Amino acid sequence: MSDTMQPFEADVGRVLDLVINSLYKDREIFLRELISNASDACDKLRYESLSRPELLGTDPDLEITILADAKNGLLTIADNGIGMSREELAENLGTIARSGTARFAELLTGDAKKDVDLIGRFGVGFYSVFMVADKAVVTSRRAGESSAWVWASDGRSGFAIEESPTEALKRGTAITLHLKDDAKEFLEEWTLRRIVRTHSDHVAMPIRLRLIKADQEGDEPSAPEQINEGSALWTRPKSEITDEQYKEFYHHVSHAFDEPFARVHFTAEGLLEYTGLLFVPSTRPFDLYDPRRAHGVKLYVKRVFITSSMENLLPRYLRFVSGVIDSQDLPLNVSRETLQQGSVVPKIRKAIVRRILDELKNKAKAEDKEAQDSYLAFWGNFGAVLKEGLYEDQENRERLLELARFRSTHSTDGWVSLDEYVARMKPGQEAIYVIAGESQAALRNSPQLEEARAKGVEVLLLDDQVDPFWLEQVTSHGGKPVKSLAKGDVDLSAVEKDTNEPEKAEEQAADQGDLGRLIAKLKVALGDQVSDVRESKRLRQSAVCLVAGDDAMDMRLERFLKSHNQLDSLTKRVLELNPRHDLVRRLATLAKDDNPDFNDLAELLLDQARIVEGETLPDPAAFGRRMSTFVARGLAG
Ligand code: ADP
Ligand code: MG
Repeated sequence: MSDTMQPFEADVGRVLDLVINSLYKDREIFLRELISNASDACDKLRYESLSRPELLGTDPDLEITILADAKNGLLTIADNGIGMSREELAENLGTIARSGTARFAELLTGDAKKDVDLIGRFGVGFYSVFMVADKAVVTSRRAGESSAWVWASDGRSGFAIEESPTEALKRGTAITLHLKDDAKEFLEEWTLRRIVRTHSDHVAMPIRLRLIKADQEGDEPSAPEQINEGSALWTRPKSEITDEQYKEFYHHVSHAFDEPFARVHFTAEGLLEYTGLLFVPSTRPFDLYDPRRAHGVKLYVKRVFITSSMENLLPRYLRFVSGVIDSQDLPLNVSRETLQQGSVVPKIRKAIVRRILDELKNKAKAEDKEAQDSYLAFWGNFGAVLKEGLYEDQENRERLLELARFRSTHSTDGWVSLDEYVARMKPGQEAIYVIAGESQAALRNSPQLEEARAKGVEVLLLDDQVDPFWLEQVTSHGGKPVKSLAKGDVDLSAVEKDTNEPEKAEEQAADQGDLGRLIAKLKVALGDQVSDVRESKRLRQSAVCLVAGDDAMDMRLERFLKSHNQLDSLTKRVLELNPRHDLVRRLATLAKDDNPDFNDLAELLLDQARIVEGETLPDPAAFGRRMSTFVARGLAG
C-alpha cells in the first residue's frame, strides 16, 4: 500500500482480527450492514437538503446500487447519499466512535468462540466486510464538495486515503469489495436477491442490482433492476408485513440483534396525524444505565428523516424503546430545537407512551406459560428502569403499577403482581407490606419482617436501587396502603394467626413494668443517637432492629443519597426491642437496679441493630472493646 498509510485505532484492530479470523457462519450480514449505512447516508442527505436544496442538484432521487462484477471478482455497493469528507473517512472507518461497536470491543474476551457469538449479537457494522473481502476500497464525495476521496484497506495493516483520480462519483459513497476466493457466491444474482429480500427489504430507497457476468462479452453491466420493495416499512399495511420483516427493520433502526419482545405499529388520525412503529427489545442493552443512554426512536416528518435525538419524544424510563415516529403535521423545514420546544412533540409523546404501556399490559396479561415467562424475563431486564416511571410519570403510575412484578417472601424465585398480592392477603391484613434493601438475601433475613413471616403475611422484597424513590410516592394501591416494614409503627396484631402454629413457652414477653423501665433507661443512655426506643411488634427471633420514623425517609434511600453526597447525614433511627427475646428480658430485669455495665450494654444493643441493618458504626473500635469484654466475661462465667 502507499506510504500515506495510517494504522487503525487499537480497538478497530481487535475487532478486525476477530472478524477476519472467525469462521462466522452468517457472513452474508455484511451486505445488510452496508445497505443499512447507505440508507442512513441517504436519510442524512435528505434532511440536510431541506435547508440546502442545492445539495441534491441534478440528482434528486436517492438510491442504492449493487454492482456484481463476476469477471473481476468485485462487489460494489454505492449510494448517492451524504458521502464522507476526507476527515470523516478517517474518523468513521478508522476509529470506533459509535457506541455499538465500542461496546462490542469492550466486551471482547479474547476467547474466539465467545467473541464470535458476540458478533452475532452486535453486528460490527462496516468492518464486517472483511469477512468476505481481502481488500475494501471506499470512494466517497461529500454532498456539495469538490473533491472525492478514496479509502483503502486490507483490514489488517491499516488504511490509506488519497484524493480520487476519477470524476465518476458525483456524490455519495461507493464501496468496492475484492471478494475472497471462498466468497464468490456473493456475486451470484440469486444469492444477492435473496439476501436483500431477507435483510433489507424494508429499506425505504430503491436498491438496484446490476450484473457483469463472468462469461459476457465486454464490461457493460446489465440494466439496473430494483430488487427490494422500496417503500418505508412503517407506511405499509400491517397485514402485508411479516414478523421477519419487522424484525429486520428493528435490527436496522436499533442497531440491535435480538428478537424484539414487543412491537406497536399504528397510525394516529385526528388532530395529529402520525405513524409509529416502535419496538421493545428482549435483551438488555449494555448501556441501559449509562446516563448518556437515550431512547432509539427516530423522528421522521412525511417520510423524511429528521433526527434520532429528539430527547423529549419519550420519557427516560422508556429509554430501551426504539423505532420510528413519522409525523404528518410537523413542518419539514424547521430546526430540531424548535421542534423540541413546540407543543406537537409532547402530545405525540403522551400518546405513544400510552400505546407502549398498553401493549406491555397485553403481554403481561397473556395466559399461557411461555408468554408469561417471556413477560417475566422482560420485567427482569427492564423492570428496574420502568419503575423510574413510578415517580417520574404520575399520570401513568397506575398503569406502571399494573405492569410491575415483585420478588416476595411467598417464594424464592417467583414474581408477584400487586393484584395477586392483594388477592392472597391474610384475613385481617390491612396493608401491602414491603421492605427495601440492598439485596434479596439480606432482605429475606431482615429482622423487620420476622413477625410478618411468622404470621404468614407476604412481604414484597425490593432490592432495586430505584425502589425507595418510588416508595416515597406510591403510598397506596387499589385502596390498600403500601407500608414499609422498616418504617414507622407496624402492627400486625389484627392479622389472624395460622391455627397450626403453637405458641412457644419461651416466647414469654418481659414484664411490662420492667420493659417500660428498660426503655426509659435506654433512652437516657443512648441520648440523641436515636429518635426513639420502643417495644417492637415486628420482631420474632431477633432482639433488636432499627426502623425509620413515621415521617422519615426510607433508611435505604438515605444511605443511597448519603453515599452519593446528596445527604450530609442519616436521620436518627428508632430502636425497637423484642420483648420476648431472652436478651431483652434479662436486660429488663437488670434495669431494675443500677448496673455499672448498663451504658455499655445499651451501646452494644444499638451497634448490633446497626450492623444488622447494614449501617456503619460511628465508633467500631469501641464496639470491638465492649464486645470483647462481655464475651470474655461470658466465657469465664
Ligand atoms: P454505524 O452504522 O453503526 O454507525 P458502521 O461501522 O456501520 O457503524 O459505520 C460507521 C460510520 O461510517 C457510520 O456511522 C457513518 O458515519 C459512516 N458511513 C458508513 N457507510 C457510509 C456511507 N455509505 N455513507 C456515508 N457514511 C457512511
Ligand atoms: Mg452501520
